[in-house]
Amino acid sequence: MTAYDPENIFAKILRGEFPCHKIYEDDHVFAFLDIMPRSPGHTLVIPKAPARNILDITAEDFAHVARGAHKIAHAAMKAFKADGIVVQQFSEPAAGQVVYHLHMHVMPRHDGVPLLPPATKKEDTAVLEGHAEKLKAALAQG
Ligand code: 5GP
Repeated sequence: MTAYDPENIFAKILRGEFPCHKIYEDDHVFAFLDIMPRSPGHTLVIPKAPARNILDITAEDFAHVARGAHKIAHAAMKAFKADGIVVQQFSEPAAGQVVYHLHMHVMPRHDGVPLLPPATKKEDTAVLEGHAEKLKAALAQG
């Protein structure tokens, strides 16, 4: 498998070298909005540890990411009055991975509303800001 590349875009976001709409951070994980959401509130949860995908991350770091996704899923249900949540993680090109720092997708779903295909549209910053505020407010409520 190809080695982890510290110049990938999510590593740059983690280091504060590239902007994002941050939702949550703790000692182990960082969560921010997907710039091309497949549903409103589509969030990415990433480990702070450098890992390309599920094939090189430690089980412990993967568990931290899963805990982060669990937290975001509950907040997203509230924030978007969602009917359900999709959690996805792709490892390697054959699986559809395009950014090589492990990330878990957390996507709020509403009955009868299909997910947009990946990379359909770069969302407006103002829309993303609104979604980030809703999610952060729901997280603050606990
Ligand atoms: P993958 O297919 O690797 O699991 O998904 C990568 C995701 O990263 C896609 O959903 C894509 O929209 C998102 N993405 C790509 N570049 C950026 C970026 O610069 N910022 C943010 N926030 N998301 C990105």
